Amino acid sequence: MDRFSQLCRNQGLKVTPQRIAVYKALKTAKDHPCADKIHKQLLTDFPNISLDTVNRTLLTFAKIKIIDIVEGQGDPRRFDPNREEHHHFYCLSCNTIIDFHDPDLTQIQLPDDITRSFTITGKRLCLTGYCSRCRHLASAGVTAVG
Ligand SMILES: [Zn+2]
Ligand SMILES: [Zn+2]
Repeated sequence: MDRFSQLCRNQGLKVTPQRIAVYKALKTAKDHPCADKIHKQLLTDFPNISLDTVNRTLLTFAKIKIIDIVEGQGDPRRFDPNREEHHHFYCLSCNTIIDFHDPDLTQIQLPDDITRSFTITGKRLCLTGYCSRCRHLASAGVTAVG
């Protein structure tokens, strides 16, 4: 948490107990939770914290690059405390997003027209499918909606 406090201070953000709690909840979650899920979790310790506060806190963290927003998995917005280069597996059934690391994938050669046209700052692969818990659904021919 020292690193977190340091990063906040560097960005001129006050380190409040609520902010620490929001960050901790995200950091310990392994599924890239949405604001709603973190909010529900925090209500035990902070009965008065509003969903809006949690949401704004997460967006502030994302803005000063302490955390990331997970792109492209629709609503609600999901958050990622892991700012190291990594890839995602997205379960179409339970919507869990799982991190995985693979240096070979990270070093993947990009098409020339992409590197010519854009400045690439990150490479993230997002695999979709069914996680180990939901796998039986896929093999039983049950498909998730959407
Ligand atoms: Zn699943
Ligand atoms: Zn991630």
